[in-house]
Amino acid sequence: MKIYKFGGASVKDADGVRNVTEIIKSQRSDHCLLVVSAMGKMTNAFEEVVHAYCFNTSKLTSAMDKIVKYHQTIIDELFTEEHIIFKKFDGLLQDLWVFLNHNKEEKMYDFSYDQIVCYGELLSTTILHYYLNLQGINTVWNDVRTLVKTDSSFRDAKVNWEQTEVAISKKINSERLNIVQGFLGGDTKGNTTTLGREGSDYTAGIFAYCLNANQVTIWKDVRGVLNGDPKVFSKTQLLEQISYEETIEMAFYGASVVHPKTIQPLQSKNIPLFVRSFLDPSLTGTEVHRGVSIQPKIPCFIVKKNQILVSISTRDFSFMVEDNISHVFQLLHQYLLAVNLIQNSAISFSVCIDNKFNQFEAFYEELKSSYKVEVTKGVDLYTIRHFDRAAVTNIRSLGTSILTQVNKETMQIVIKI
Ligand code: ASP
Ligand code: MG
Repeated sequence: MKIYKFGGASVKDADGVRNVTEIIKSQRSDHCLLVVSAMGKMTNAFEEVVHAYCFNTSKLTSAMDKIVKYHQTIIDELFTEEHIIFKKFDGLLQDLWVFLNHNKEEKMYDFSYDQIVCYGELLSTTILHYYLNLQGINTVWNDVRTLVKTDSSFRDAKVNWEQTEVAISKKINSERLNIVQGFLGGDTKGNTTTLGREGSDYTAGIFAYCLNANQVTIWKDVRGVLNGDPKVFSKTQLLEQISYEETIEMAFYGASVVHPKTIQPLQSKNIPLFVRSFLDPSLTGTEVHRGVSIQPKIPCFIVKKNQILVSISTRDFSFMVEDNISHVFQLLHQYLLAVNLIQNSAISFSVCIDNKFNQFEAFYEELKSSYKVEVTKGVDLYTIRHFDRAAVTNIRSLGTSILTQVNKETMQIVIKI
C-alpha cells in the first residue's frame, strides 16, 4: 500500500484539483490512501473565523463569507448544478454554524479552534472525493477523526498509537483508494483535535506506520528537498537522496523539509519517503530512506531570521556555572523562548532565541535583575550542514558575523546586517 499526501497548495483551486486527479489517474490508484490538507491557505482563513468567534463576533460573518466564496468558486467550476456536492457542501457549512451558534462549552480558544478549523480538511476531502468519482475513480472517504485517536490537548494533540493502530487496521480497506483528512484527530469524547500546523505530513506518517505501507509520497510545489529554501537562497540544488537522520537534523535546525514528527514512524518501519513535485510529476524528486546520508554531498543552508542574541555574565565577575545556567534556562522556559543556539565560555553564556510569543521583554527584565546582560536584536541565524569554505564565505559576506559555532558537520553563524 502507498500513501500520498497532497498539501493545500496542490488543491488551491479547480485546476489544482484537476491536476491531482491526473496524478492519481497516472499512478496505479488502488492500494492507496490519500491524505489531503485544507485548500490553499484556508486554514489561515479558518483561524480568522476562530478569532472572530472568540474575540470579535462582529467579524464572524465576513470571515465565514471568505471561506464560503473560496470553496464555492472551486465547486462551481468543477461540478454541474445538480451534483450532490452542493448539498454536502451546504451540510458541512450548516454543521459549522451549529457549532458557532450553539456551542455550550465556554469559548475556550484551543478547543474551539479544533472544532472550527477542521472544516478546511473536511471540505477539501469531500470536494476531491466527489470530483475523483465524477472522473471515474472510485474512492472511499473516511473521517480521520475516527481513525487517528488522540488525547485532548487541543491544537497539539498527542497520538494514542495503540488505539490508532486498531482503528486504522479495522476500518481501512487497503485494497481500495482511500481518502482521509490530514492534520485532524479525535479524542475519546468525540471532539475534534488537531496535530499542530502543517501536521498533514505527520498524518501520512501515522497511516504509513499503521498500515505497514511500502512508501509515502509527499507531493509539493518544489522539485523535492532542496539544499536551501528557494524563497531565501537564490541558487538551490536538489538533494536526490537523504537519510532519515539527516532529514531530522535539517528539520531540527529549522528547515521546512517535512513536518519533523513525520520521520520517526517511517524510520522505525523502514518505509521510504518520496518528496515529489505535483507541478511536474515526471521528475523523480527526493528519496528519504535508510542509508547514504546525503546525495549529492553539498552544503545545505537553513536560516532563522529575526532572532535575539543574548549574552549573560555574572555581576561579580565569577564564572557562569551550573546553577547560573540552570537559572537562565528556567527563565527561558518560563517565558516560552525557543533557544536555537547556545554558547558557553568561562565568563559568559550566550543564547540565540526566537521571540515567538513576545515575552522577551519580561524575560529580559527578570534576567537583568540578577546578571549583566547584553542584547542584540534583529540578528539572523544561519546553519550550514556539510559546510565547506565557499559556503562559509558566502554566508559571512551577508553581514557581520557576531558568533560562530562549529561541530563536525554543522556550522552556525549569527549574522547582523
Ligand atoms: N491545513 C493544515 C495547515 O495548514 C495542515 C497542513 O496543511 O498540513 O496547517
Ligand atoms: Mg495547509
